[in-house]
Amino acid sequence: MIASDVIVIGSGFGGAFAAERLTAAGARVTLLERGPWRDTPSVRAAGVGPRSPLPRGFGFFGRALRSLNLPLLPGGRLRLNAHGLFDLHLGREISVVCSSGVGGGSHVYSAMNVRPAVPDYWRERADGIDTAMMDAHYDAAITRMGARIPDASVPNFIGTRLQQNPLLRPPSVESQPAMGFRFESSTFTDNSFFGCHDGSKVTLDSLLLLPALARGLQVHDLHEVALVGPVRDGWCVTAYDHRAKVYRHLTASRVVLAAGTLNTLRLLFASRDAGALGAVPALGLGVGGNGDVPAYWRCNTADADYSRGTPCHGRFGLRDIAPGSEDDVDLTAYGLNGIDGVPMPEALRRALKRDLILVGMGADQANGLATWTGGRLRLHYSRTANFVLARIYRAFDRIAARSARPVYFLRHWPLTVHPLGGARVGDDPQQAVLDGYGQVHGVSGLYVADAAALPAAPGAPPSMTVAAWASHVAAGIAAQG
Ligand SMILES: Cc1cc2nc3c(=O)[nH]c(=O)nc-3n(C[C@H](O)[C@H](O)[C@H](O)COP(=O)(O)OP(=O)(O)OC[C@H]3O[C@@H](n4cnc5c(N)ncnc54)[C@H](O)[C@@H]3O)c2cc1C
Repeated sequence: MIASDVIVIGSGFGGAFAAERLTAAGARVTLLERGPWRDTPSVRAAGVGPRSPLPRGFGFFGRALRSLNLPLLPGGRLRLNAHGLFDLHLGREISVVCSSGVGGGSHVYSAMNVRPAVPDYWRERADGIDTAMMDAHYDAAITRMGARIPDASVPNFIGTRLQQNPLLRPPSVESQPAMGFRFESSTFTDNSFFGCHDGSKVTLDSLLLLPALARGLQVHDLHEVALVGPVRDGWCVTAYDHRAKVYRHLTASRVVLAAGTLNTLRLLFASRDAGALGAVPALGLGVGGNGDVPAYWRCNTADADYSRGTPCHGRFGLRDIAPGSEDDVDLTAYGLNGIDGVPMPEALRRALKRDLILVGMGADQANGLATWTGGRLRLHYSRTANFVLARIYRAFDRIAARSARPVYFLRHWPLTVHPLGGARVGDDPQQAVLDGYGQVHGVSGLYVADAAALPAAPGAPPSMTVAAWASHVAAGIAAQG
């Protein structure tokens, strides 16, 4: 017997937005998430549990890492702690950082809620999508996140800090990214990459999933999906229950994959290998890293405490690069927010608070390839064929030279927190995995609602693009009844 209308796999920006919208439309939805509920203030107050603490204090190192994925490891991966926060995928051509837990990337992300930098991003991608419709989904998602641009009262906010800086261009406040953040109630500490402790960062567990629970959404945390396959009248999902240490089989009329780009690709490849999906010829095409280059600027600013503020301090440019020119790349700065919870000598902590993390970003060509051999996912990505990376390297070299302070980054090993593509949207099944409604071409009832679906790099932080896409996919499913 089919137990649910829809099973959603993963609870990040794709999964949470899809599950919430489908539940609101009256569907019986079961959400499977491999990570635990996090012990955040609103989840605690709702009495949902058991909950796992965010990494902090003595438990920091044990709780920070969930798994390490390295093609050379036996089985391709090492699982360290099912409750861990981060998942590292180390590859020769590109490495990826993503997270685990109910709420997905919203716990570790920097809260920038923006539209694509690429104009008309959704134009002529596939039948069933148009720009006006996607604009409405962006508006709804950004409003739902309560996102707004910080003001001068926020510690370290770049929009009002760089007026006298000889090297960095003061950007206008209006051009700063809006943030999904509760400014009024924030302590402006400990709200970033290791999770948010005072509830000031808007995370999807509290914003979308708790209210959806009250409307009937079923959430099974610590359930890691291994396989999806068709059964009579629907789909069967096989998931490992990390608490009970058993495999469970759940059925639904439809399945929405939203396990984050790499894990959604793993599930699609594994299910295809098991003969469940047919050929899916375009699977793995169009992988990208959204042009990410993270760097560490040992700027050692006297008396600074950059660990305070919002997770991201804002956007900046270089004074000697003309706005709009080819070398004018998107640069953002971050303090080591959350460092107070990491065990280390005090002198080192004080020194680290005076330094900044910089991230360069831009639309790469998203021309990488994901392959699947012997149950291992490999990403092929050319640093030189993705020109935006070289422009960001040049910007970092300029900052180092002009400030006479080192900027450290991995020039030969791209690293991204914004993996996308591999199951992209498009009308041609030879080039794209999904149709314009997010359904796998030729496979009825199987959808992808996360960043794996993105047809190109947005060139800006992608959470709202994922949320808008997931809302579109869910609206299409809900319309079918
Ligand atoms: C440090 C960092 C900072 C970032 N800052 C920003 C920012 O400021 N703005 C922005 O727009 N974006 C930011 N991002 C990127 C943003 O978080 C991602 O683009 C977004 O989370 C992608 O959404 P998703 O639904 O595709 O995947 P995710 O949000 O990663 O969600 C996937 C979920 O699926 C679960 N899952 C995985 N495999 C399975 C399985 N087999 N079974 C069940 N569940 C599974 C995972 O545990 C996870 O919870 C940042 C990312 C990081 C890592």
